[in-house]
Amino acid sequence: MAAKPAVTSKTGRATAGAVKPARRHDTGLGDPDGDEVYRSLVDNLTDMVYRKDLSGRIVFANRRFCSWLKRPREEVLGKTDYDLFPATFAETLAADDRRTLGGGTDGEHGDAEVYEFPHCQPNRARITRVPICDARGAIVGLHGIVAEVIDAQSLEEQSFFLTKLLDTLPDNVYFKDGQSRFRAISRYCAEKFGITDPAQAMGKTDHDFFAGDHAEQAFRDEQEIIRTGIPMVNIEEKETFPDGSVKWAATTKMPLRDGGGRIVGTFGISRDITDRKLMEEQLARQAFYDGLTSLPNRALFLNRLGHLFRRASRTGGQPFVFAVLYLDIDRFKGVNDSMGHQAGDELLIEVARRLEGCLRPSDTLARLGGDDFGLLVEDLHRPEDIHRVAERIQEELSAAFRLKDGEVFCSASIGIALSTSGYEQPEDMLRDADTAMYRAKANGRSRHEVFDKDMHRKAVSQLQLETDLRHALDRNEFVVYYQPIVDLDRRCLTGFEALVRWKHPARGLVPPNEFIPLAEETGLIAPIGQWVMNEACRQVREWQQRFAGRDALRMSVNLSGHQLLQPDIVEQIRRTLEGTGVDPRTVTMEITESALVRDMEVGAATMERLRQLALELNIDDFGTGYSSLSYLQNLPVDALKIDRSFVSRMKRDGGQSEIVHAIISLAHRLGIKVVAEGVETREQLDALTSLRCNSAQGYLFARPLPSDDAERLLSEGLAPF
Ligand code: C2E
Ligand code: CA
Ligand code: CA
Repeated sequence: MAAKPAVTSKTGRATAGAVKPARRHDTGLGDPDGDEVYRSLVDNLTDMVYRKDLSGRIVFANRRFCSWLKRPREEVLGKTDYDLFPATFAETLAADDRRTLGGGTDGEHGDAEVYEFPHCQPNRARITRVPICDARGAIVGLHGIVAEVIDAQSLEEQSFFLTKLLDTLPDNVYFKDGQSRFRAISRYCAEKFGITDPAQAMGKTDHDFFAGDHAEQAFRDEQEIIRTGIPMVNIEEKETFPDGSVKWAATTKMPLRDGGGRIVGTFGISRDITDRKLMEEQLARQAFYDGLTSLPNRALFLNRLGHLFRRASRTGGQPFVFAVLYLDIDRFKGVNDSMGHQAGDELLIEVARRLEGCLRPSDTLARLGGDDFGLLVEDLHRPEDIHRVAERIQEELSAAFRLKDGEVFCSASIGIALSTSGYEQPEDMLRDADTAMYRAKANGRSRHEVFDKDMHRKAVSQLQLETDLRHALDRNEFVVYYQPIVDLDRRCLTGFEALVRWKHPARGLVPPNEFIPLAEETGLIAPIGQWVMNEACRQVREWQQRFAGRDALRMSVNLSGHQLLQPDIVEQIRRTLEGTGVDPRTVTMEITESALVRDMEVGAATMERLRQLALELNIDDFGTGYSSLSYLQNLPVDALKIDRSFVSRMKRDGGQSEIVHAIISLAHRLGIKVVAEGVETREQLDALTSLRCNSAQGYLFARPLPSDDAERLLSEGLAPF
């Protein structure tokens, strides 16, 4: 049925305007309004109802009709169409009214006509007019029943829009009935479900597309919405599929109501947020895990430690003991410097894997940074048990690490803090474990130390030490000790190694391991080293002159890595040699292997220039610097000093000497001599002698001696060995 256009004639205006206003109850139509029941019935109809008298005045209007006109009832009653609508439209209505009032229509069923009302919503409405007759059958007015018009075309249009939406929206849209069976889904949703036609979802449930637990959860949620009418807005759902895969969605679910407002099902829209979720997870991982080893990082480690603190405080009477182990890989820098960062990374990953092998399920292993690892050991039976944990770790690390570019050995220095010390902050416990680790390193690496209050004091006094070290030279607090070096062929003393000592006014004799690293860090090593060099050269020159037959007596002086890189070091040494008048051919410079690999190019160039001064050059601590042996051919090296850790590893019976054997035979093949340091037992000496080691140094012969003791040795001779 087509709507009548609003006509433009204005002719009806005067006619209608001439009608006198009718007062309420003065309609002559009888007064059904008097019947309360009738009135409340009509008032509550969803249809709009009004009544007009013969002059076109509205004498009754139900609530719905007034609200449709957006006017209170007082403003509607007594008005004509000309008061309510534009004149042309009012004219159309009046003309149709006249037809009904004139009896031109079927009095029984009334006359229906569709209009487009201006200013009303919905604006497309059908008016059914029914004439009202008095007792004698004369027409005295009319009833109008106004109903919203939904015609087939607009229905079609609506369904077209909906289908379009469902077909193109890149979201999962679905409608479900009261039993959560699909009634319609969007094409995008169908694709997600793995079906080609959305219609195939009809009648299916989530159980046909999702894993059971997710389907059940969705069912429960929807039944709740149906029961309460409360929507679920923008909740994040983890969707699991039958094949185990997982997706994330942001979902809004609403109750689906029929025309009468009754809930008959649900509908929902959900957007895939899997990518965002994965990104979030990845960011969370980055914040709490180490990228290289995939272990927890320092932040997560402290977090877990914090949990443990809280748990410990809750257990009250039954305290449980836990420990923090701080691990630092010994000489890791050496691997990095000599074999490259890739090898360093490889080693870290491998170390992490081995450490994981030492864990119990409740323990936490973390990479705290660089080559530092943290281990959190919970529920220790007794505090002493931690020693076994540390030993197991050392054992686990002792086997060779096979990297792409070769084998390396490594150990760890481990510092331990125990909860029995009564910490209040996780950070404090970790700090003390760190301090204990430094102690383990200072005590010779590859070992563990448990933190005690003493260490804290020592850490503080380290600072004091630095200040004191700055004054030590001016105050003349350094002395040089001399340790004999013996020739194993000729079985006699051939020279000394100069080893510096610090006579600290309060601490007594401080060994170089406790201040040389500090001196290197602060740059103080340059003046200290120069002083030692000068003192040692002066001393050996004096002895060469004083003792008959000693003009070839040798002196070895240590050159630190820092000194090796000093640009003017060669010139400085040349001046010292000149100043003391010593024959450079009787002086040996000892350069550690690790100092050399730190910057091979500069190191090699400096050695070349030192050689031109006619000095002898030794590689110190050989075997610990991870250098490849082939580089030796290109360096002006006279002798290797085998690190004392290898010598001490030779058992009492001289066994386990494969490495020493290998070093000696290689050196000899290259025309380089070998000095063994740290020789403490006769068995070691015998083994070294039989391996044709050239020289030796160690407590077996003599400890480092003050100059007057060394002098006595020169005059009295070394005891035969
Ligand atoms: P180094 O050059 O390897 O010196 C040998 C160290 O081994 C000395 O320790 C010596 O006392 C010790 N030693 C000798 N025989 C034995 C033995 O039979 N058993 C054991 N367990 N140890 C033995 P010291 O004097 O404490 O020196 C430690 C390090 O300090 C030296 O190691 C050297 O690297 C550095 N150093 C000492 N004096 C100087 C110096 O004047 N300048 C520089 N740059 N470094 C120095
Ligand atoms: Ca040395
Ligand atoms: Ca050494």
